[in-house]
Amino acid sequence: MPESRALDVVIVGAGFAGMYMLHRTRELGLSAIVFEAGSDVGGTWYWNRYPGARCDIESMEYSYGFDEDLQQEWEWTERYASQPEILRYADHVADRFGLRPHMRFDTRVTSATFDEAATCWTVRTDAGDEVSAQFVIMATGCLSSANMPVIDGAESFAGETYHTGQWPHEGVDFTGKRVGVIGTGSSGVQSIPVIAEQAAELVVFQRTPAYTVPARNGPLDPDERAKIKAEYSTFRATNRQMPAAFGSRLPASDRSALEVDAEERRAEYEYRWQKGLGLAFIGAFNDVLISPESNESAAEFVRSKIRDIVPDPEVARKLTPHQVIGCKRLCLDTGYYETFNRPNVELVDLRDTPIEAITPTGIRTTEGEHELDCIVYATGFDAMTGALLRIDIRGRDGLPLQEAWAAGPRTYLGLGVAGFPNLFTITGPGSPSVLTNMMVSIEQHVNWIADCMDHLRRQGHRTIEASEPAQDLWVEIVNAMAGITLFPTCNSWYLGANVPGKTRVFMPFVGFPMYAEKCTQVAQDGYEGFVLSG
Ligand SMILES: Cc1cc2nc3c(=O)[nH]c(=O)nc-3n(C[C@H](O)[C@H](O)[C@H](O)COP(=O)(O)OP(=O)(O)OC[C@H]3O[C@@H](n4cnc5c(N)ncnc54)[C@H](O)[C@@H]3O)c2cc1C
Repeated sequence: MPESRALDVVIVGAGFAGMYMLHRTRELGLSAIVFEAGSDVGGTWYWNRYPGARCDIESMEYSYGFDEDLQQEWEWTERYASQPEILRYADHVADRFGLRPHMRFDTRVTSATFDEAATCWTVRTDAGDEVSAQFVIMATGCLSSANMPVIDGAESFAGETYHTGQWPHEGVDFTGKRVGVIGTGSSGVQSIPVIAEQAAELVVFQRTPAYTVPARNGPLDPDERAKIKAEYSTFRATNRQMPAAFGSRLPASDRSALEVDAEERRAEYEYRWQKGLGLAFIGAFNDVLISPESNESAAEFVRSKIRDIVPDPEVARKLTPHQVIGCKRLCLDTGYYETFNRPNVELVDLRDTPIEAITPTGIRTTEGEHELDCIVYATGFDAMTGALLRIDIRGRDGLPLQEAWAAGPRTYLGLGVAGFPNLFTITGPGSPSVLTNMMVSIEQHVNWIADCMDHLRRQGHRTIEASEPAQDLWVEIVNAMAGITLFPTCNSWYLGANVPGKTRVFMPFVGFPMYAEKCTQVAQDGYEGFVLSG
């Protein structure tokens, strides 16, 4: 039965953000519903079931910290958790906190319209629901809107096609198949080694070579797990002080890569490479993401590893990246570069031989046709704004969000948008989000939003809205922070460069601790930069 109720809160999305938001909302005694396009909870981990899908933040950190009993009772089994294990965790959380009765699955929100007279939102779904609510909270995810490249003839392909972000629940058996994978970002890097083991032939179509470091995943050491659990809240608090809100067991370096000699530099990179410290490889020195020379030293280290691992000089050449390391998200892998030594794997460099068309039987490049039974699109997402802009969101005076963001997303703190009262975005553009351990960013945003709704209720305010001047200044600050780093120097999805026609704006805020402090300060100052009324 379609809903036609008046509620306090509508939450869109049942990933980790929507789940915790619902929990906090209910704790406040507010009535709420979650609409979710998928058939169950988990978000990213519900959709991305491709072979090899895994977290690249250590599992003791990539989990909720809001409930002591929850973090004590859940036992992660691996250093970097696999997708099935993370999905089981989401399922456990949903049961433990009784979330599912307040969620509507298989239901996509199509529009949200602000009613000035009634000061509430009307939310409509593809299942015919029409719900009014004082607050709308977008927990729609930064990486939930699959990006499909437009390639001539794609619909003519007679074999099977898959997108890593919309993987079939029953899995895919590639045994004996000729498989083509398009894309070598994180999803490609994780899935290619696993697909290569199964498929008869694997052709990898690469546009930009990836920098990836070995995960060296394995079972979690029970002693280490117990040690963290014994002081879990302190451990989490220390992580929140790290620039990307994770990795406090290896303190951030206070040295420039240029301060030490070549031997010491190499030893530091080698240590991180051998230990499988993952994204913390970039933290080997404090200026790897700031100084082009320091960055080049880290990049060259990884290039030398590629040359060591891949004996065929032509394959090694094609696999070798030349952009700034870390400018696109650094990948973690299990045997990625090694996979290209296999006899059943071919690497096609699209910079040398671009794709001309997809045909009924395969993929044709300028060099010739590759006959395939299956095509896997590992082409990522319309990041950060994609899921939001696919909803017809209209604020004051019927202003569409698409129009307000025509020149790129504009928010105050990545939490609110001027002209869109009582609309919150969890991990929205302008917040640290994808540059951090997302679980920490999600909890920080959910707590801020919940406290804010509580404040409004207690103070008798009906609406809160970002002010234009505060928003303008924040957009400048986000750009200035990015400008200090090397992030804007390559065509990354942080900039929207992977989606044709998308305005190029660096979307996330660099630096979690400073950001979190600012949010706290704003709230303590009576929501400075926001307009409260009613
Ligand atoms: C393959 C992959 C690996 C990742 N690995 C890491 C990692 O190692 N560390 C890390 O910190 N982060 C990682 N991330 C980021 C990950 O997205 C976040 O960690 C986190 O899961 C996001 O939770 P969320 O609830 O904000 O969004 P999501 O999990 O994306 O959930 C959003 C939900 O909203 C739903 N939705 C969207 N639009 C609508 C609509 N209009 N109507 C109804 N429902 C809608 C979607 O169906 C989705 O289920 C990864 C992402 C991917 C894709």
